[in-house]
Amino acid sequence: YLGNIRARSAQALVYGRNSSPHSHQSRKRVLVAGGAGFLGSHLCEALLAAGHQVICLDNFSTGLRRNIARLNHLDAFSVVAHDIVLPTELEVDEIYNLACPASPPHYQSDPVHTTKTCVIGSLNLLELAARTGARILQASTSEVYGDPNVHPQVESYWGNVNPFGPRSCYDEGKRCAETLFFDFHKKHDVEIKVVRIFNTYGPRMRPDDGRVVSNFVVQALTGQDITIYGDGSQTRSFCFVDDLIDGLIRMMASSASLTGPINLGNPGEFTIGELAEQVIELTRSRSKIIHRPLPADDPRQRRPDISLATQELGWRPNVDLASGLVQTIGHFDRLLTRATPELAE
Ligand code: NAD
Ligand code: UDP
Repeated sequence: YLGNIRARSAQALVYGRNSSPHSHQSRKRVLVAGGAGFLGSHLCEALLAAGHQVICLDNFSTGLRRNIARLNHLDAFSVVAHDIVLPTELEVDEIYNLACPASPPHYQSDPVHTTKTCVIGSLNLLELAARTGARILQASTSEVYGDPNVHPQVESYWGNVNPFGPRSCYDEGKRCAETLFFDFHKKHDVEIKVVRIFNTYGPRMRPDDGRVVSNFVVQALTGQDITIYGDGSQTRSFCFVDDLIDGLIRMMASSASLTGPINLGNPGEFTIGELAEQVIELTRSRSKIIHRPLPADDPRQRRPDISLATQELGWRPNVDLASGLVQTIGHFDRLLTRATPELAE
């Protein structure tokens, strides 16, 4: 399997430099950093379905080989096992930077590496973009708004972020990455696209991901207690993965003058208590709700203002929470009850 990856990686390296940067050719060479992760694997699939050649680059820290297993046989797909903290030499037309652990327990387990991934990793990919002339999209986050004092969050809001709390490696790392993106754009003419993604969920999240939707669904399906942190009155807005991927692709294809930052998320806002109730109802679970301490610096409320995305990209989410949860519950149900080979790591 590794030999296969190496052969494909080597193949990826031989494509000619700058043969068609920013061209309007329909088939592009697209690098998806973090392509084996939850969002990245869905993005790889969507790009392949659109006829592009896709190079998935990942260090497999939180990503899984099973997420991309069904793509491995495709000639248009290759995998490079690599950490973006180290420079990379590939020849590509477009770069999506999704490489970064996104779940609080995962990004907090090695916080220094999380900051390095956000900052040095973004720097390496921006240098690659500058050298190849590739357009580059950054998966930024609603976390740049921290615990927001402005509600809903608009792109012009600068945020309220603790620079040295448990979430800072991620929040400040992503903020610094945005700084690098805009400075590469201004100083080196790199075509950038910065999207601020709000909580996104769906099939292919890991059962041990640690984020709220996967935790609640797995707990409900396995009859464990449902763990609400704090009193459950804090809010989040949950976007289904298919809607989000559509937004990423629209943003990448938008006119060069649209750099962002641009919010992508579902403006429906729910308390964590309401989410727990919905999951219990949809799974018909007998799990009971218990409360655990609220983690430090946990944002009180979050909802995207998506006027800009709607106006500039013609984008708005189509999948409501109940329908998205049904699909997500189906994924975890299959994962937990059927040890099928394609689901093995
Ligand atoms: P994920 O953890 O499933 O995916 C991240 C992927 O990046 C994994 O495959 C992981 O192995 C890889 N990775 C991590 N560090 C790396 C490194 N140093 N070098 C190479 N690969 C590395 O998370 P996700 O939910 O798919 O998130 C993808 C991106 O979207 C992240 O950048 C995240 O910050 C951003 N984002 C996600 C959400 C969300 O709700 N899902 C919200 C805001 C932002
Ligand atoms: N949360 C919870 N129980 C869990 C996991 C998370 O109550 O088992 C809460 C968490 O404290 C936060 C919200 O759900 O208020 C969303 O958490 P998540 O980690 O999914 O995303 P983020 O906090 O990064 O938005």
